Amino acid sequence: MLKRRSWAEPFKIKVVEPIKMTTREFREQAIKEAGFNTFLLKSEDVYIDLLTDSGTSAMSDWQWAGMMLGDEAYAGSKNFYHMEEAIRDVYGYQHVVPTHQGRGAEHIMSKCLIKPGDIIPGNMYFTTTRLHQELAGGKFVDVIIDEAHDPLSEHPFKGNIDLDKLKHWIDQAGAAHIPYISFAGCVNMAGGQPVSMANFRAVYELCRPLGIKVMFDATRNVENAYFIQQREPGYRDKSVAEILREMSSYSDGCTMSSKKDHLVNIGGFLAMNDDDFYQQAVNMVVVYEGLHTYGGMAGRDMEALARGIREAVHDDHIRARVGQVEYLGQKLLEEGVPIVVPIGGHAVFLDAKRFYAHLPQNQFPAQALAADLYVESGVRAMERGVVSAGRNKETGDHEYPKLELVRLTIPRRVYTQAHMDITAESVIDLYEKRTQAVGLKMIFEPPYLRFFQARFERLGG
Ligand SMILES: *Cc1c(COP(=O)(O)O)cnc(C)c1O
Repeated sequence: MLKRRSWAEPFKIKVVEPIKMTTREFREQAIKEAGFNTFLLKSEDVYIDLLTDSGTSAMSDWQWAGMMLGDEAYAGSKNFYHMEEAIRDVYGYQHVVPTHQGRGAEHIMSKCLIKPGDIIPGNMYFTTTRLHQELAGGKFVDVIIDEAHDPLSEHPFKGNIDLDKLKHWIDQAGAAHIPYISFAGCVNMAGGQPVSMANFRAVYELCRPLGIKVMFDATRNVENAYFIQQREPGYRDKSVAEILREMSSYSDGCTMSSKKDHLVNIGGFLAMNDDDFYQQAVNMVVVYEGLHTYGGMAGRDMEALARGIREAVHDDHIRARVGQVEYLGQKLLEEGVPIVVPIGGHAVFLDAKRFYAHLPQNQFPAQALAADLYVESGVRAMERGVVSAGRNKETGDHEYPKLELVRLTIPRRVYTQAHMDITAESVIDLYEKRTQAVGLKMIFEPPYLRFFQARFERLGG
């Protein structure tokens, strides 16, 4: 018999940040004041913050050392060249346009490539990505495989594009009206579900002869590379770095929110191989972001980013990062809590439709569950359901997505296994008393990305 061997984080802790302990009465008051929207809570009132893994990573001592080497010149900062070199080495793209974060890159790419009336097929929408496509006059169409919409499907690559759906849109719109495919690794809105190498290759082979660009949303492609290593035949002996390079070879460029995989608190970029696209983008970055050698980042930010890109592809790091997410997910599965399976790369997604099965979707079950979890234990999560989906442009009614989820997002290198235990225990407690939960009513709704600022009240007071 093999003895069980535990694993632990491949780092030790050098600096600590104390967190505040609060009472249930305090939290009940705080969530009321925040309009039952976890985005409107004060961070200092949160115990374990699983709102997002965006910009919440702990940097390494090597990154912090790099922060002291910021070259804050307006033009030609050496930190930009370090960053550019890291992106060329790790991703293989020729040109780099720095931006303050991912949506800055999405904005510039959408403006450069989309003409009014264009169709942009992609593997499930992402909030800011789709909004920038629409603001540029385009229309996003979802071509992800059907399994992605089924929280119970065990498909190992639920992020894959359905080639028949894609071909349908190419026939329908004509290749000339499809500027690019918006192709994301570890699809956030599907539960952090990866794309297979075979699918990356097939989409590229379909699009290339038609002159349709394949643009990655590469925000979580390192995590995606890890899943390919673990799940796809032929990749077990390849490093995550090698797999990532192969993935990139099936694309024409990417947008990137470095606040995720790259272990920094701010930053991003647009990268591409095409010279003309680069010229256009580099001209636009000076209008919206900053000069093309900083794009909204300080020199020190770019140095931390350059180093984070290289640390992100260490196999030990990524195994522990995804392993911690799996650890939390397994604990919940063992107790029968309904979550999206397979467990994704950056987060565990509670399936609010099954968790609060008695609440109809127009009472915002996921929003209510996220609020209840905060009151229960001070753990902050995020709604990914009808509130995030927004309204239908034509009918004005809510979009009712198939997935009504609460995302427990794990920041990189920030929390320990003990924090995961506490999180699991409080979710399990809530699940045991789930029938007592009540729904919410929306009392304030902003026009764009409403989930950030919408306010709610409990039904029945
Ligand atoms: C976070 C994210 C973005 C947007 O990036 P920001 O840095 O928040 O502007 C785009 N796509 C995906 C998949 C993301 O996770």
